[in-house]
Formats: sequence, C-alpha cells, structure tokens
Amino acid sequence: MAALSPIDCDVHPTVPALSALLPYLDDVWRDNAIRRGMDELVTISYPTTNPLTSRADWRDATGKAGTTPAALAAQALEPFGTQLAICNCLYGAQALFSEDLGVAFARAINDWIAREWLDRDTRLRASIVVPTQNPERAAEEIDRCAADPRFVQVLLLVGTEIPLGRRQNWPIYAAAERHGLPVGIHAGSTYRHPVTPVGWTSYYTEDYVNQAPAFQSQLTSLLAEGVFAKFPALTVVLMESGVSWLPAYLWRLTKFWKGLRSEIPWVSDPPATIVRERVRLTMQPFDAPPDAAGVSRLMEHIGSDDMLLFATDYPHWQFDGNAAMPDGLSPALKQKIMTDNPLRTYARLREAVS
Ligand code: ZN
Repeated sequence: MAALSPIDCDVHPTVPALSALLPYLDDVWRDNAIRRGMDELVTISYPTTNPLTSRADWRDATGKAGTTPAALAAQALEPFGTQLAICNCLYGAQALFSEDLGVAFARAINDWIAREWLDRDTRLRASIVVPTQNPERAAEEIDRCAADPRFVQVLLLVGTEIPLGRRQNWPIYAAAERHGLPVGIHAGSTYRHPVTPVGWTSYYTEDYVNQAPAFQSQLTSLLAEGVFAKFPALTVVLMESGVSWLPAYLWRLTKFWKGLRSEIPWVSDPPATIVRERVRLTMQPFDAPPDAAGVSRLMEHIGSDDMLLFATDYPHWQFDGNAAMPDGLSPALKQKIMTDNPLRTYARLREAVS
C-alpha cells in the first residue's frame, strides 16, 4: 500500500484574497498595494466563476476552493492516500507589467506558501514562483527560496512574453540546474500575446484548448535554442498540458529535424529521444479516449513509461469522484506514474522519502 501512496505533482493552493499576502510584502509594496487600492491579481486564465477553475463539491461558501491547508488535505490528499503533493500557486505575479511589483509579489507568494502551507502540513512541497519579467531577478528568487528544501521546482507559465528557449531566459535554467530543481511549465498566460498564434479568441473553450499548442511551441523553443544541451542536468515538467498531443508532435518535430538539423547542430539527438529523456508531463487533464484500449494505445504511442507524473490538478475540475487515474494502465505502469516517476524527477522528493 505504501508503494501506491501517490505523489501529487500538481495541486493549487488558492490565495483567499490579496489581503492574505499583505503581511508578506515589504513595507514599500504593502503601502503601495493599500494606497492604490489594488484588487486581486488572479489572471483570466482561471476566473473563479468558471466551472473548470474549481470542482463544485470542492468550493467553499465564498465560491473558492483550496484556500486552506485543511481543505486541500481533506479534498486532495486524504481521498487518494497521497504522501506528498507539490503546490503550484497561480496568482498572476508573472503577469504584472512592473518588474519591481512582480518581484515583490513573487517573494510574498513564496513566503506565504512556506509559512501558511508548508509549515502546516508536512506532506506539502511547493514550486518557486518567479518574476519572469526579469530573468536575473527570477534567478535571485530561485537562489533565495532554494535554501528551503521544501521548494522542489521552479514554476513558469506557458504563455510568456518571449519564447522560453531564448537566451535571455537562461539565468533561470542555470539557477534551477544549480539547485537540482526541475523547471515546471504550467498552463496559463501572462497575456502579452493572444493564446493562439492567429489572434484573440472569443470563448474560454478556445483559450483552454489552445494551451496545448502553446506547450508545443515552448518545447520546440527549448530544444531549438539549445537549453537541453546547455543544461544537461535540467528536467522540464509540463503541467496541465494534456498528454494526447505528444506522439503526433514528436513525430512531426523529429521528421523536420532530420531535414533541417544543420542549422541547430547542438540538437545532436532526435528530438523525440531528448523529450522522452528530459521532459515529464503531469497526468491531469488526461485528454485521452475514455476506453481502456484507447488509453493503452496512447501509452504505446508516447513510447516511454517514464514520462507521466500523477496529479489531480486540484481544485480544477478535471474528473469526478476519485477517478484521477484512467482505465487501461497496467499495475506496474500505475506504480511508476504514482510514485517512481515523481521520485526520479524530483531530487528533493527523494530526500523526503528516504
Ligand atoms: Zn494545474
């Protein structure tokens, strides 16, 4: 049973209100936030009223879910027998246009997570929120938070101002690699650009579905710019990306690399090989066919048992009841997804269970 006690690689603590962060802002920015009458920073990626944002049976009287460690434990940890869970706080710090304000809120969120969540439940770990507006300041925040071993990953959003592979972002990867931290790229956007490459959409459905092509663009950028070659110890985790797009994408990417690789000679192995070795994906939303035969066919096409990481994506509404794992996975593969793969991915989780 202990071996099947899963590690949840994507849960979302909800900041109950901006006032919860005020004690964690320094004096200047606390005064600014109060004087300006700043409202909540939550981006339109996850509006509270949207059904996907929180499952109905997990919402509290305010309409939000996951606002306390007790609620998260009762709804996301205990029903699954979860031994460890990684908190990814999505609060819009990366979307601010002021670099200084982005730094202030990233620091406040990380300190709030450490004091109000990690100190209160020993099963919780967290990703470091970083001000991607300025990669040097982001690296400083990684260095600051990495001193606490309960921070196990660096958190980025998939919708960025410039492609993630571009060289000015490399201080983030250098800092992550220096501390043995994977870089987790989560669905969501800083909204510097439309989510689609063809313009702004009308409907939330379009926005959410189009996160998957954004993940593909970022993965291609990381590969082509040479991040995997420059940082050989770095692992990238795609979170809330869906998984069913991966086989066709890898086939297409590898096919065109064969013809065009002379311009990116540092990509010395087939991209599909690099991705299978260096990239991991969280399990929910599992956008595969509902039948067991379809799931097992998809797993064959993905071509690796090492890539998927158990996740509930709590409190986002991706499944009903406790059905976080799809049918069609062998017991051995389930164990890899629930515990072995997360432990192999996150060095700091291995220390926690050893
Ligand atoms: Zn998520």
